[in-house]
Order: sequence, then C-alpha cells, then structure tokens
Amino acid sequence: MTQDSTRPRMTTTAGAPIASNQHTETAGDRGPVLMQDYQLLEKLAHQNRERIPERVVHAKGWGAFGTFTVTHDITQYSCASIFGQVGKTTPMLARFSTVAGEMGAADHERDVRGFALKFYTDEGNWDLVGNNTPVFFVRDPLKFPDFIHTQKRHPRTNLRSATAMWDFWGQVPEALHQVTILMSDRGLPQDPTFMDGFGSHTYSFWNKDGERFWVKFHFKTQQGHRFYTNGEAAEIIGHTREGYQEALFGKIERGEFPRWTMYVQIMPELDAEKTPYDPFDLTKVWPHGDFPLIEVGQFELNRNADNYFAQIEQAAFSPSNKVRGIGYSPDKMLQARVFSYADAHRYRLGTHYEHLPVNAPKCPVHYYHKDGQMNFFGQVTGSTDAYYEPNSRGGATEDPSFAEPPLRLQGVAARQPHRQVIDDYEQPRALHDRVLNDEERARLYRNIAAAMEGADEDVLERVLVHFDRISPAYGAGIRAARAEKADQSIAAE
Ligand code: NDP
Repeated sequence: MTQDSTRPRMTTTAGAPIASNQHTETAGDRGPVLMQDYQLLEKLAHQNRERIPERVVHAKGWGAFGTFTVTHDITQYSCASIFGQVGKTTPMLARFSTVAGEMGAADHERDVRGFALKFYTDEGNWDLVGNNTPVFFVRDPLKFPDFIHTQKRHPRTNLRSATAMWDFWGQVPEALHQVTILMSDRGLPQDPTFMDGFGSHTYSFWNKDGERFWVKFHFKTQQGHRFYTNGEAAEIIGHTREGYQEALFGKIERGEFPRWTMYVQIMPELDAEKTPYDPFDLTKVWPHGDFPLIEVGQFELNRNADNYFAQIEQAAFSPSNKVRGIGYSPDKMLQARVFSYADAHRYRLGTHYEHLPVNAPKCPVHYYHKDGQMNFFGQVTGSTDAYYEPNSRGGATEDPSFAEPPLRLQGVAARQPHRQVIDDYEQPRALHDRVLNDEERARLYRNIAAAMEGADEDVLERVLVHFDRISPAYGAGIRAARAEKADQSIAAE
C-alpha cells in the first residue's frame, strides 16, 4: 500500500513518517502490546494532557478576530498610537463569556457577560477586559474572591446556592446596582452581538503635552439590544447549550459581521474631587448628562478562529497590557486586576503565555526575561551577548519618551473607602425609577423573585430592606412577584 500523495504524510511529533495508525504493535496475533510502541504511549499521554485549568471566572467563552477603525479625533485626550489618525485601523480580538458557569455551562444563562478586547496596536497590545455592564458587584478587591465563591458551587452540596448569593448581596448593598442590571432584560442577551460592552473601570488618558484625563470606555452594539426572558432561554437551553457559539460563529461565517461603536466619557483630572460620587468606584457610572459620550471609532468582528483552543481558550487578556497614552486610575478593583489577570495566565498557560501566537504583539518585542519552561523563541534582547541590562553589547534600551506623566495622589495610607459618605442607592434608583419602563420593571421583579427561589427567608428579608431603600416601589414589586410565584406553585400542586 502507498500513501495518498494528495494528502500530507502523517508523522511522529519528531517528524518521522508513520506507517500505521490503525494497529498497536503486539507480540504475535494474541500477544500483549509491546512497550516499544511509543506512538501508542505518546498518543495516550497527549490525551491525558489535553485539558488545561479552565478560568476560575469567565470559563465559557466565544470569540472572534476583527478590526478597529478610528472615526473621530481624540488626540487632544490621548497620544495612544491606536487613536493616531482618523481612518487608522488596528487588528483586534474579542472574547465574550459568562462569569459563573464552568466550561460546559449553557450559553443562555442569566449572568453578566465578559467583554474582553485585545487591540494589537503598533506600540504593543492594549487589552480592555470589561463586561456588558458599566458597573460591578463590589468596589474593593478584598471582597472579590468571596463574591465569586457565592456564585460557584456550595462545598458540600456541589450545587449553586441562592442563599449564599443573597446572603452576600444583602450585606454588600453596593452590589445591588449590578444586581439590578443583571436581573433586568440586559442580563440575558440573545447572543453576544446584541449587547453593549464597557471598560467598566475608570482608566486614564494622557496626551502629548502630558495632561491626564480620567476616561470610561463604552462600546454600543450596532445590532441593537435583544434579550430573552428566563422562560425563552430555558426553552433554548433544552435544544442547545451552545447558542452563543452557534450565533457568533455562524454570523461571521455567513459574512454578517457584527459591529460596535466605541465612545469615551472624559473627566478632566482635577474634576474627580468635585463629583458627588467617587468616580473611581466600580459600582458607579458617570451619568451621561454630566459626562456625555464622545464617539471614537468602531470595531467589526470579521474572522473566526481557525482553532478554538489555540486562539480563544488560550487568549490571555489582562488589564496589565496597556500602551502609551492610556493609564490606570485609583480604582481599587482595577489595581488588583493588573496583578490577578496576568497571574492567572501564568498559572493556566505558562510563563511565556504572551508568546503564544494569539497573544503575541504584532510589533517588535525586546525584553530581558530569561529561559523558563517552553521557551521556544530564544532571546529577544536584540543582541546575542546582551542577556542583562544595562549592557554595552547592543541590547535593547529604554525609551524615556514613553514616560507616563506622574499620577497625582493625596491623603494617607489606610484601610478605608475613598469617600467617607457613599450613596449606594441613588444610581440603581435612577435605573429603576427613571430608565426602566413599567414592563421592564415587571420583568425585573419576576427575574429577582425567580433568583430568590430556594434561598433562606432570613437572608431575603435582609436584602429586601436594601431594595426598599433603593425605591419603596422596587421592594414592593419584588415582594408582589414572590407572592405571585408562590400562588402559582400552590395552584400547580
Ligand atoms: P441616561 O438616562 O442618560 O441613560 C440611561 C442608560 O441606561 C443608557 O445608557 C441605557 O442604554 C441604559 N440602560 C437602559 N436599560 C438598561 C438596563 N436594563 N440595564 C442597564 N442599562 C440600561 O442615564 P444616566 O447616565 O443618567 O444614568 C442613569 C442610570 O442608567 C445609571 O444609574 C445606571 O444604572 C444606568 N446606566 C448608565 C450608564 C452610564 O454610563 N451613564 C450606562 C448604562 C446604564 P442604551 O442607551 O443602550 O439604551
């Protein structure tokens, strides 16, 4: 028998052609498998190593490649090269995800969606690792692991626990702004193309004159908002658990490229003291009336990954990836994420995760980190004899023209919130009382009542007090929806 010459020849991982991939090597026709059948051993060993640790949060995801295009000049705020000229394009990658579910979770679950973007700029990768919500559940990173524990499985039952969720939220009322968004229509988008994205944190911009501005990033869907009710989603999950992957992948394969418009809100550096709320508090938005949206550009997703694992599962987004013209802020959650995301990638993917093709910048890279597991690229210092810095052997050197202007800080170092007086009720009140209409509010109450099912009553009483404080109508609406649900359950018995 000869090999089909129209197809590539199968080889070992070391490149030697393989004669048979159908039969293991045995001694005689009934004899045991020989130890020397290394290709069998290697195949089994590789299979054992196919899984890497899934992300602790945002495990289930869907992504695609695309292009960002500048449509409006914002160089007065930022000298980032990506915003350099109107019409400039930058290749990018987006990964959307649910937060709490594991990798096998159904796509159409009510949950916050991750909205992670990697821009391969000509001055390095800029990652904006946000959500489809403008705020988050907690403002202090000390609370983050505890919050996530309440979203994951109970250690004894191995089931999700409504009691744990509401117990935590009832003692952390800053969470109820995000809870309101999650339980509203926007907590269950039909697919990733029908939702907005937000950088969520306050970042900073600086311009060529060294002036700093605080900035929030918004990505408005051009497909419009579409959502499912819990009932509709349950029906879909009965047919498919992969509805988001099918939708995003399918649309891009068919040439229906989804688009988002990028906007920023800009706050002059010294105005941060003047706002009635802490502008660095991740549980707060900046009202549009005070800080209008300024259009910047748009991105389009137009290419599916060729290999999901290599390009989406191994995609490593981190707020630590920032570029000239874009900086951080005193947002405590952002500061902690600068550490925790890169740390997660080192754990999941290995020391050199930034060298994987999907994560590698598309501009020259020169640094002095050395050796380590799976170093497949050698030395990137720019010179063979330059393996330390400073050196006089032609290695890469720093460029002071990229220096960030100093970040102004004030006050004392202490374990305390940034502001002494914090109103955690006002912004969810604006959403509940002013932004949502009657039908949206009714669905919000029903979704909350459904999410409360099975939770201990003492815990729910505590959290309902906070809903009352947001708005008496809010608390009353949830109580009425719970009563209606209880009546329906009795009627069904
Ligand atoms: P505006 O009245 O100017 O705008 C209301 C905002 O709420 C719009 O961005 C709208 O998005 C958004 N929205 C509508 N329905 C929902 C929902 N179910 N879940 C989340 N957002 C929704 O608002 P203000 O800026 O004065 O803020 C009022 C409240 O609106 C805030 O307290 C906050 O809860 C919410 N909000 C504010 C945002 C901001 O950045 N200022 C962003 C998102 C929400 P769209 O335009 O796409 O309809």
